[in-house]
Amino acid sequence: MSIYLAKTIVSTDKAPAAIGPYSQAVRVGSLLFTAGQIALDPHTQQVVAGGIVEQTTRVLENIKAILDAGGSSLERVIKTTVFLKDFNDFAVMNSIYAKYLAPKGVGAPARSTVEVSRLPKDVLVEIEVIAELHRKTGLNGEQLPVEEKVELSNEEWRKRLTLEQYHVLRESGTERAFSGALNFNKESGSYQCAGCGAELFGSEAKFDSGCGWPSFTIPADSKAIRELEDISGGRRRIEVRCARCDGHLGHVFPDGPGPDGLRYCINSLSLTFVKAQ
Ligand code: FE
Repeated sequence: MSIYLAKTIVSTDKAPAAIGPYSQAVRVGSLLFTAGQIALDPHTQQVVAGGIVEQTTRVLENIKAILDAGGSSLERVIKTTVFLKDFNDFAVMNSIYAKYLAPKGVGAPARSTVEVSRLPKDVLVEIEVIAELHRKTGLNGEQLPVEEKVELSNEEWRKRLTLEQYHVLRESGTERAFSGALNFNKESGSYQCAGCGAELFGSEAKFDSGCGWPSFTIPADSKAIRELEDISGGRRRIEVRCARCDGHLGHVFPDGPGPDGLRYCINSLSLTFVKAQ
Protein backbone atom coordinates (compact mmCIF):
# COMPACT_ATOMS: atom_id res chain seq x y z
CA MET A 1 0.00 0.00 0.00
CA SER A 2 1.38 3.40 -0.83
CA ILE A 3 0.59 6.48 1.18
CA TYR A 4 0.17 9.53 -0.97
CA LEU A 5 0.74 12.85 0.72
CA ALA A 6 -0.69 15.85 -1.07
CA LYS A 7 1.70 18.71 -1.60
CA THR A 8 0.74 22.32 -1.04
CA ILE A 9 2.55 25.27 -2.55
CA VAL A 10 3.35 28.14 -0.21
CA SER A 11 3.41 31.62 -1.65
CA THR A 12 3.81 34.98 0.05
CA ASP A 13 4.64 38.50 -1.12
CA LYS A 14 6.57 39.03 2.11
CA ALA A 15 9.46 37.05 0.66
CA PRO A 16 11.08 37.28 -2.79
CA ALA A 17 8.85 35.89 -5.52
CA ALA A 18 9.77 32.59 -7.11
CA ILE A 19 10.97 33.52 -10.58
CA GLY A 20 11.34 30.24 -12.40
CA PRO A 21 10.13 26.67 -12.15
CA TYR A 22 10.22 26.47 -8.35
CA SER A 23 8.10 27.43 -5.34
CA GLN A 24 9.02 29.53 -2.33
CA ALA A 25 8.16 26.49 -0.27
CA VAL A 26 6.30 23.22 -0.51
CA ARG A 27 4.38 21.57 2.29
CA VAL A 28 3.95 17.86 2.39
CA GLY A 29 2.66 15.84 5.32
CA SER A 30 3.71 17.65 8.48
CA LEU A 31 6.79 19.21 6.90
CA LEU A 32 7.60 22.35 4.97
CA PHE A 33 10.57 22.60 2.61
CA THR A 34 11.74 26.06 1.54
CA ALA A 35 13.56 26.96 -1.63
CA GLY A 36 17.08 28.25 -1.03
CA GLN A 37 16.80 31.90 -0.05
CA ILE A 38 19.20 34.59 -1.11
CA ALA A 39 19.29 38.20 0.05
CA LEU A 40 16.67 39.62 -2.28
CA ASP A 41 14.47 42.41 -1.03
CA PRO A 42 10.88 41.09 -1.38
CA HIS A 43 9.65 44.41 -2.75
CA THR A 44 12.35 45.22 -5.28
CA GLN A 45 13.60 41.67 -6.02
CA GLN A 46 17.11 43.18 -5.86
CA VAL A 47 20.02 41.96 -3.75
CA VAL A 48 20.25 44.08 -0.61
CA ALA A 49 23.17 46.46 -0.22
CA GLY A 50 26.01 45.54 2.11
CA GLY A 51 28.00 42.43 2.87
CA ILE A 52 27.59 39.14 4.68
CA VAL A 53 25.83 40.73 7.69
CA GLU A 54 23.11 42.37 5.61
CA GLN A 55 22.75 39.40 3.31
CA THR A 56 22.48 36.79 6.06
CA THR A 57 19.93 38.92 7.90
CA ARG A 58 17.83 39.37 4.76
CA VAL A 59 17.99 35.66 3.95
CA LEU A 60 16.76 34.73 7.43
CA GLU A 61 14.01 37.36 7.31
CA ASN A 62 12.87 35.89 4.00
CA ILE A 63 12.85 32.41 5.52
CA LYS A 64 10.91 33.69 8.53
CA ALA A 65 8.27 35.20 6.23
CA ILE A 66 7.92 31.98 4.24
CA LEU A 67 7.63 29.89 7.40
CA ASP A 68 4.96 32.25 8.75
CA ALA A 69 3.01 32.04 5.50
CA GLY A 70 3.35 28.27 5.42
CA GLY A 71 2.09 27.53 8.93
CA SER A 72 5.44 27.05 10.62
CA SER A 73 8.02 29.20 12.38
CA LEU A 74 11.73 29.50 13.06
CA GLU A 75 11.43 27.44 16.26
CA ARG A 76 10.11 24.54 14.22
CA VAL A 77 13.04 24.36 11.79
CA ILE A 78 14.64 20.93 11.97
CA LYS A 79 17.31 21.02 9.27
CA THR A 80 19.12 23.72 7.35
CA THR A 81 21.67 23.91 4.58
CA VAL A 82 23.89 26.97 4.34
CA PHE A 83 25.77 27.70 1.12
CA LEU A 84 28.61 30.20 1.46
CA LYS A 85 30.57 31.81 -1.33
CA ASP A 86 33.52 32.22 1.05
CA PHE A 87 33.96 30.09 4.13
CA ASN A 88 35.80 32.99 5.77
CA ASP A 89 32.32 34.49 6.23
CA PHE A 90 31.30 31.55 8.41
CA ALA A 91 31.74 33.16 11.84
CA VAL A 92 29.76 36.26 10.93
CA MET A 93 27.01 34.27 9.21
CA ASN A 94 26.93 31.89 12.19
CA SER A 95 26.41 34.62 14.78
CA ILE A 96 23.38 36.00 12.90
CA TYR A 97 22.09 32.52 12.14
CA ALA A 98 22.22 31.66 15.85
CA LYS A 99 20.06 34.66 16.75
CA TYR A 100 17.32 33.45 14.44
CA LEU A 101 17.56 29.69 14.71
CA ALA A 102 18.95 29.02 18.19
CA PRO A 103 18.14 32.18 20.19
CA LYS A 104 18.25 30.33 23.48
CA GLY A 105 21.43 28.48 22.58
CA VAL A 106 19.63 25.14 22.63
CA GLY A 107 17.49 23.13 20.27
CA ALA A 108 19.31 24.31 17.16
CA PRO A 109 18.33 22.57 13.90
CA ALA A 110 20.65 20.05 12.25
CA ARG A 111 22.77 21.86 9.66
CA SER A 112 25.06 21.37 6.73
CA THR A 113 27.37 24.19 5.65
CA VAL A 114 29.14 24.15 2.32
CA GLU A 115 31.35 26.51 0.37
CA VAL A 116 30.37 26.82 -3.25
CA SER A 117 32.07 28.49 -6.17
CA ARG A 118 29.12 30.58 -7.24
CA LEU A 119 25.58 31.42 -6.13
CA PRO A 120 22.66 33.02 -8.01
CA LYS A 121 23.15 36.75 -8.57
CA ASP A 122 26.64 36.29 -7.14
CA VAL A 123 25.36 36.60 -3.58
CA LEU A 124 27.48 35.59 -0.59
CA VAL A 125 25.07 33.23 1.13
CA GLU A 126 22.05 31.06 0.43
CA ILE A 127 20.08 29.12 3.06
CA GLU A 128 17.32 26.53 2.74
CA VAL A 129 15.38 24.95 5.59
CA ILE A 130 13.07 22.08 6.42
CA ALA A 131 10.56 22.80 9.16
CA GLU A 132 7.80 21.02 10.97
CA LEU A 133 4.38 22.60 10.64
CA HIS A 134 2.47 23.86 13.63
CA ARG A 135 0.51 20.86 14.72
CA LYS A 136 -2.82 22.51 14.20
CA THR A 137 -5.54 21.73 11.75
CA GLY A 138 -8.54 23.84 10.93
CA LEU A 139 -12.18 22.98 10.43
CA ASN A 140 -11.42 21.49 7.06
CA GLY A 141 -8.18 19.80 8.04
CA GLU A 142 -6.02 22.67 6.81
CA GLN A 143 -3.03 23.81 8.80
CA LEU A 144 -3.53 26.93 10.86
CA PRO A 145 -1.13 29.02 12.93
CA VAL A 146 -1.58 28.38 16.67
CA GLU A 147 -2.86 31.88 17.26
CA GLU A 148 -5.70 31.67 14.77
CA LYS A 149 -9.00 31.45 16.64
CA VAL A 150 -12.14 29.69 15.54
CA GLU A 151 -15.18 31.73 16.50
CA LEU A 152 -18.62 30.51 15.49
CA SER A 153 -22.11 31.48 16.61
CA ASN A 154 -24.03 29.08 18.84
CA GLU A 155 -26.19 28.30 15.84
CA GLU A 156 -23.18 27.33 13.76
CA TRP A 157 -21.80 25.19 16.57
CA ARG A 158 -25.16 23.41 16.84
CA LYS A 159 -24.97 22.54 13.16
CA ARG A 160 -21.41 21.31 13.44
CA LEU A 161 -21.67 19.28 16.65
CA THR A 162 -23.94 16.54 17.91
CA LEU A 163 -26.27 17.46 20.77
CA GLU A 164 -24.01 15.67 23.24
CA GLN A 165 -20.85 17.30 21.90
CA TYR A 166 -22.54 20.71 21.99
CA HIS A 167 -23.55 20.22 25.61
CA VAL A 168 -19.98 19.40 26.67
CA LEU A 169 -17.99 21.73 24.41
CA ARG A 170 -20.22 24.80 24.40
CA GLU A 171 -22.14 24.44 27.68
CA SER A 172 -19.33 23.00 29.81
CA GLY A 173 -21.23 19.78 30.32
CA THR A 174 -19.69 16.54 31.57
CA GLU A 175 -20.30 13.16 30.01
CA ARG A 176 -21.15 10.25 32.28
CA ALA A 177 -18.08 8.49 33.70
CA PHE A 178 -17.00 5.45 31.64
CA SER A 179 -19.43 6.42 28.85
CA GLY A 180 -16.87 7.89 26.47
CA ALA A 181 -15.80 6.05 23.32
CA LEU A 182 -12.17 7.08 23.82
CA ASN A 183 -11.92 6.29 27.49
CA PHE A 184 -10.20 2.96 26.94
CA ASN A 185 -8.62 3.77 23.58
CA LYS A 186 -4.98 2.66 23.57
CA GLU A 187 -4.15 3.16 19.89
CA SER A 188 -1.29 5.40 18.73
CA GLY A 189 -2.35 8.71 17.29
CA SER A 190 -3.47 12.17 18.23
CA TYR A 191 -6.47 13.55 20.04
CA GLN A 192 -7.92 16.61 18.38
CA CYS A 193 -10.57 19.05 19.49
CA ALA A 194 -13.96 17.76 18.31
CA GLY A 195 -14.98 21.39 17.81
CA CYS A 196 -12.17 22.85 15.72
CA GLY A 197 -9.65 20.10 14.95
CA ALA A 198 -6.78 21.57 16.99
CA GLU A 199 -4.37 18.91 18.14
CA LEU A 200 -4.70 18.71 21.90
CA PHE A 201 -3.08 15.54 23.20
CA GLY A 202 -0.83 12.78 21.89
CA SER A 203 -1.51 9.12 22.63
CA GLU A 204 1.85 8.87 24.38
CA ALA A 205 0.47 11.19 27.10
CA LYS A 206 -2.66 9.08 27.68
CA PHE A 207 -2.83 6.89 30.75
CA ASP A 208 -5.41 4.80 32.51
CA SER A 209 -6.41 6.81 35.55
CA GLY A 210 -9.44 4.71 36.35
CA CYS A 211 -11.51 7.87 36.73
CA GLY A 212 -13.84 7.14 33.83
CA TRP A 213 -12.67 9.83 31.44
CA PRO A 214 -9.72 9.91 29.01
CA SER A 215 -6.73 11.10 31.03
CA PHE A 216 -3.50 12.69 29.86
CA THR A 217 -0.30 13.82 31.57
CA ILE A 218 0.49 16.74 29.26
CA PRO A 219 -1.03 18.59 26.25
CA ALA A 220 0.55 18.21 22.81
CA ASP A 221 1.39 21.91 22.92
CA SER A 222 1.00 24.18 25.94
CA LYS A 223 -0.50 26.82 23.65
CA ALA A 224 -3.24 24.44 22.51
CA ILE A 225 -5.17 24.66 25.75
CA ARG A 226 -6.33 27.37 28.10
CA GLU A 227 -6.87 26.94 31.81
CA LEU A 228 -9.47 28.79 33.88
CA GLU A 229 -10.49 28.72 37.50
CA ASP A 230 -13.84 26.96 37.94
CA ILE A 231 -15.65 27.40 41.26
CA SER A 232 -18.93 25.87 40.15
CA GLY A 233 -20.41 23.16 42.36
CA GLY A 234 -18.87 24.67 45.49
CA ARG A 235 -15.31 23.48 44.82
CA ARG A 236 -12.31 25.01 43.16
CA ARG A 237 -11.13 23.23 40.04
CA ILE A 238 -9.09 24.19 37.00
CA GLU A 239 -11.12 24.01 33.82
CA VAL A 240 -9.36 23.15 30.56
CA ARG A 241 -10.53 24.66 27.28
CA CYS A 242 -9.37 24.50 23.69
CA ALA A 243 -7.30 27.63 23.09
CA ARG A 244 -8.46 27.86 19.49
CA CYS A 245 -12.26 27.54 19.76
CA ASP A 246 -12.71 27.98 23.52
CA GLY A 247 -14.56 24.67 23.70
CA HIS A 248 -14.81 23.10 27.16
CA LEU A 249 -12.65 19.98 27.40
CA GLY A 250 -12.60 18.99 31.05
CA HIS A 251 -10.45 19.75 34.10
CA VAL A 252 -6.84 19.34 35.17
CA PHE A 253 -6.02 17.89 38.59
CA PRO A 254 -2.70 17.75 40.49
CA ASP A 255 -2.70 13.99 40.95
CA GLY A 256 -1.21 12.72 37.69
CA PRO A 257 1.65 10.26 37.27
CA GLY A 258 3.91 12.27 34.93
CA PRO A 259 6.86 14.51 35.86
CA ASP A 260 4.49 17.48 36.12
CA GLY A 261 2.14 15.54 38.37
CA LEU A 262 -0.91 16.52 36.33
CA ARG A 263 -3.99 14.64 35.19
CA TYR A 264 -5.88 16.21 32.32
CA CYS A 265 -9.30 14.67 32.73
CA ILE A 266 -10.99 15.22 29.37
CA ASN A 267 -14.44 14.41 28.07
CA SER A 268 -14.32 11.87 25.27
CA LEU A 269 -17.05 13.88 23.54
CA SER A 270 -14.68 16.86 23.25
CA LEU A 271 -12.13 14.79 21.36
CA THR A 272 -11.68 13.25 17.95
CA PHE A 273 -9.05 10.54 17.69
CA VAL A 274 -6.84 10.43 14.63
CA LYS A 275 -4.98 7.16 14.31
CA ALA A 276 -1.25 7.37 13.49
CA GLN A 277 -0.43 6.36 9.90
FE1 FE B 1 -11.20 23.59 19.62
